[in-house]
Amino acid sequence: MIDPSYISEILIPSDTLQARIAELGAEISRDYLGQDLLLLAVLKGSALFLSDLMRQITIPHAIDFMAISSYGSGQESSGVVRILKDLDEPIEGRSVLIVEDIVDTGRTLDYLTRMLRTRQPASLRICTLLNKPSRREVAVPMDYIGFDISDRFVFGYGLDYNQLYRNLPYIAVLAPRFYVRE
Ligand code: 5GP
Repeated sequence: MIDPSYISEILIPSDTLQARIAELGAEISRDYLGQDLLLLAVLKGSALFLSDLMRQITIPHAIDFMAISSYGSGQESSGVVRILKDLDEPIEGRSVLIVEDIVDTGRTLDYLTRMLRTRQPASLRICTLLNKPSRREVAVPMDYIGFDISDRFVFGYGLDYNQLYRNLPYIAVLAPRFYVRE
């Protein structure tokens, strides 16, 4: 498994994640009752969140995926986004809920929501598991937030450290000596 020296702290244990996701699922099920709900997950980080969230949503809904890469590598996002995989279906007239792993500067979501709005969905909202409010550079309205966290590099539960450890069932904080901010 993981070398424990990578982890400085388990920030959100598995049972806390699952309890909050159940609350989010119930809220989304109430809010979107009777609507044509499409969950749009941004690969790869939100894969685990989507899979648990959709099992807590009790109303009919579809899912679709986008893969994007932000120019600039490593632990920072540049906000200039390239689409690696687009949605399979048009979203015009549908109630689209973006499912994200983490919002940091907000640049990625700002770009994505501008682009998706041109496709004229009935509504476009955002559900993020994690939010780092102190890092925000671009205001993006978020409708559902799992947890506000402080400015530390986290991984696990879908989020990677150098593409690894997405399978951890909890959110961990990377030990500071491994953290490189560009
Ligand atoms: P933003 O455009 O909001 O700055 O960046 C969002 C993206 O940056 C996330 O989807 C994620 O890929 C990456 N990111 C930001 N903070 C973290 C973090 O603490 N851990 C990991 N693994 N990725 C992060």
